[in-house]
Amino acid sequence: MEQERMIECPGCLLRLPDRYLNPDDRFNASGECRELYYEITYYTLSKNDASFIHQHVVDAYAAQHAGGRTRTITTVFALIGLYLATEKGYTGKQVQQAHMKIAEVRKDWPRLEPPAQPAKLTVMDVLLADTDEKKDAMIRMWSESVWETWEHQHVWIRDTTRRMLYGPGT
Ligand SMILES: [Zn+2]
Repeated sequence: MEQERMIECPGCLLRLPDRYLNPDDRFNASGECRELYYEITYYTLSKNDASFIHQHVVDAYAAQHAGGRTRTITTVFALIGLYLATEKGYTGKQVQQAHMKIAEVRKDWPRLEPPAQPAKLTVMDVLLADTDEKKDAMIRMWSESVWETWEHQHVWIRDTTRRMLYGPGT
C-alpha cells in the first residue's frame, strides 16, 4: 500500500495529509493547515459571544504563522493581542478595541523575526477538543503557548503596547 503523502506547515510545523492545496496567501501556512483554521473560525464566529473569543484564534494563528509573506502589521498586532489576552486578561472584544486604537496612532511596523522553536500547541489541538467548553479552554492554552515562544519580543511588545494605549512616559 502506498503511504499517504504528508505536508508540513511552515509556520506551526503541523504535518497533515497533502491535499495539494495552495499555500495560504496571507500567512506563512500550508493550505491544509489554513483549512483547519477556517474550521475553528467557523466555530468561534458562530458563537456570537459578547467576549469575542474569536479574536484570540485570529491572533494565535497569525503569531504562529509569521514570516514569509505575512505582513509586518499582522504579526505585531497578533502579538499585541496575545500579550493583552494572556498577561492582562483582556477579552477578545477588548483586544479588538485596543487594536483599533493602536492602528490610529501608528501605521508602519518593523518585521519581527519568528521564534526558532515552535509552540507546543496548534490549531489541531483546538479542533480535537470535543466540547465547546474544552475548545474555549484550549484556545486560551494555545494563545499562551504561542505567546511563550515569542519571548525574545516580549519586552518590546509590552513597551510598545503600553505606549500606544496610554501615551509616552507610562
Ligand atoms: Zn500551520
